Formats: sequence, C-alpha cells, structure tokens
Amino acid sequence: MFPGLCVIISLHVSMLKNPLALKNDQVKCLALEVAMIDVLLDFLFPQEVCCICRKPGKYNTRRPWCKECQEKMLQMQCSCPTCDKCGKYLENGASLCADCQKTPPGFELARSVGPYNEPYRIAIKVLKFMGRKHLAYCMGDMMAEKVQSEPRFMPIDLIVPVPISSGGLKQRGFNQAELLARQVSKRLKVKMDPRIIYRVKDTPSQVELSREEREKNLQFAFQIEDNRKVYRKNILLVDDVYTTGSTSRECTRVLLEAGAARVCIITWATGKGY
Ligand SMILES: [Zn+2]
Ligand SMILES: [Zn+2]
Repeated sequence: MFPGLCVIISLHVSMLKNPLALKNDQVKCLALEVAMIDVLLDFLFPQEVCCICRKPGKYNTRRPWCKECQEKMLQMQCSCPTCDKCGKYLENGASLCADCQKTPPGFELARSVGPYNEPYRIAIKVLKFMGRKHLAYCMGDMMAEKVQSEPRFMPIDLIVPVPISSGGLKQRGFNQAELLARQVSKRLKVKMDPRIIYRVKDTPSQVELSREEREKNLQFAFQIEDNRKVYRKNILLVDDVYTTGSTSRECTRVLLEAGAARVCIITWATGKGY
C-alpha cells in the first residue's frame, strides 16, 4: 500500500511539473489509479438517484442511470432518419442533409449514439457541468458500440479527442471529449493520444454563435503536434456533441493536411444543426 502511494504521489508531482513528459506506462498507471478510486467511491458513496430522471435506486459507475432512461435512449436511436454522411437528424427522408449537399465534409462519416435531446442532453450536462466524470465510462462504452456496429468506421489506427479551450479547461478541470475518447479506446483496443491536436487560438464559447460566426471563430484554431504521428493513419475523432459540424470539419481539415489517410467522427449526441 505504502510504496504504491509513493508511486502515485511521485507521478502526480511529475505530472504537475511537466505533463508532456509522462511516459505511456505512467499514463496507464494513472488510469489504473483513477479506476481504483472510482471503484472505491462507488463503494463508499453509491448514487441514490438516477442521474438523468432522479428516480431513486442504487446506481454506480457501470450503471449510472435507470432502466427506463436506458430504454428511452435505445428507442430514440432508431426513431429518426439521419444524414448518411454526418449523422445529423433529418426531418424528411433525404439521404444527405443540406450542409453535406452544399459543402461535402472532408471526413468519411460522423455518427453519434443519439439525438441531442433528453435524456442524451441531460447525460452530457451532468458529465460536463456537474463534474460526474464517472458517466464517461458508460457513455464511452455506448459510443464504442456505435462504432463497432458501423463497418464504414473501419479500419481505425488512432483515436484523437477534440481539444477543449483553455477557458473550458480552467472552468471544469477536465476535457470531457478526452474522458470519452479514453473509454472508446479501451473498448476498441486502439491507441488514444490526446496531444495530437492542440488549440492555438482560444475560441470563445460557440453556443451563441451563428454558423458563419462559428466557422470564422474556428479558422486556424487547431494545429497538429507532430505530423508524423498522423501520417497515413485512419483517425477516429471523438467529441461530446456534434452541432453544426464546424469543429469536426476544422479538426478533419488539419488532420488531413498533416497527412492522415482518413478521418471518422464519433460523438455522444447530434443536434439538428442549422
Ligand atoms: Zn432515469
Ligand atoms: Zn450531413
């Protein structure tokens, strides 16, 4: 117990001093440590209500919401037609949304687990704004299942999360896309590297912006850390929500420019997008 504690403390100190110097096995060790803490927290503080509908019961990391919420999610997955390319939910039976018809995206395809409505929307809010990081296990598993169910995603050589703005990181202390990507990587047994794409420009919140403003806002916002790491690779880009697709399109552009073979996108939820 005591030597383990020393390793954990020294890892934390080195991580705080220089996070980029962490080696792969140290990252694995930290991930294991986090998993152990989650198990301990589950045991000490089991959740008494469903994190989505607040229904009383016993919930934990592996089962954070109730059966009804889970069933509702599953039902919603097949209730609406989606754009064949970007996965956006469509009102009519067209095969492509207006955006993809007008400007075909550079990525191969984008899919999400469900529409950005309740309960999907609540789950992402609980993860992001209430800091319930343990939700990322279950959500990441469902995202990995979605990827496995669609042969067009394959092959995948590398998993890359969309980087968070430094404002968002300061506010929350974590990147939700990275947490989801970590779990997707674990399930698909494909390497994940959160340092591939980084932000060079801190963009203000996208929420209130129009499509044109979002695109302008994101122009030249991302860069690739080392082109050799993505050269000829099939990349799976992971994000929490797909709204207008501006972020996914811009990240795809820099990845392809750096020499990536192809890019696919998986998100937790997709909005209708405008
Ligand atoms: Zn519920
Ligand atoms: Zn589309």
